[in-house]
Amino acid sequence: MVDANAVKEKAAKKQSRRSRGASTASISAHKHCRICGININAKVEVRVCSDQECIDRNTKDETNQKRMRRWMFIFLALFSLPVLIRLFGS
Ligand SMILES: [Zn+2]
Repeated sequence: MVDANAVKEKAAKKQSRRSRGASTASISAHKHCRICGININAKVEVRVCSDQECIDRNTKDETNQKRMRRWMFIFLALFSLPVLIRLFGS
């Protein structure tokens, strides 16, 4: 037989978990490793845990991101150059 109180308690827990955020500042004072997702200290600067694999992957990701940003900048410059030439050339 299912205990009605236990069910109610479970539902309340679910709800409080869903509505976490502004009211529960102490819970939000942590970060998640961006690679494997485990909790890490909020004070650390890098957003990865101490796992070497995660550190390596994070470094690789950042390098890729930097390269991508540089290419985006180059493309943007290439596309805006004709416009600038037209603006200043006439
Ligand atoms: Zn990790």
